[in-house]
Amino acid sequence: MQVLFLGAPGSGKGTQCKKLSAKLGLAHLSSGDLLRAAIRENTATGLKAKEFMDKGLLVPDPVLIDMFREALSMPALKKGFILDGFPRNLAQAESLDKLLDELDMKLNAVIDMEIDTSLLEERLVGRRSCPNKVCNNVFHVKFAPPKEADVCDYCQSQLVHRSDDKVEVVSSRLETYKRETEPLIGFYKGKGVLQSLNADDTPEHIFEQILKVLQVSV
Ligand SMILES: [Zn+2]
Repeated sequence: MQVLFLGAPGSGKGTQCKKLSAKLGLAHLSSGDLLRAAIRENTATGLKAKEFMDKGLLVPDPVLIDMFREALSMPALKKGFILDGFPRNLAQAESLDKLLDELDMKLNAVIDMEIDTSLLEERLVGRRSCPNKVCNNVFHVKFAPPKEADVCDYCQSQLVHRSDDKVEVVSSRLETYKRETEPLIGFYKGKGVLQSLNADDTPEHIFEQILKVLQVSV
């Protein structure tokens, strides 16, 4: 099964991708994780990406597409994959379409996690992330607090307030999402694969909705 998730920052998309990946044995391909891994392992794509990131520039689409081409060609993907955080705009969605054609793959579903963006600011600003790269769990001071304040439940690392989640950055991230990524909802609706669900709900209930949409028995 091949699934793509759309959702504004703070919609809980990452959490749901993780749960679904664990439940169905699908590879979770997050653009951020893939980039970090490519750079850590010094792959050709990783080195190219690093050149741009070191200059504070965005990694260009052709480099990202190369990275996904490598990732999607891995034999470990036999059961399928979940795309998280890519594509981010229409141009990338069109490139992804071509890449999937080239690899003889298709998306079974695009899950759009709908939520009023005004609810997202509180969610985002309260996030605390585990800096341990193999753990990467995310907590929330109000909605999903760790057992001990500022300590990861899973690996006991000290949690961090990522610069991305600070209040001044959050509103500009949400604006970028609205402008660049929201048009993808129409794009995938036109392809007949869009499934929208209400993301203003508990993580457990959202997960049930996702399984229902994908017609997977719980
Ligand atoms: Zn941790």
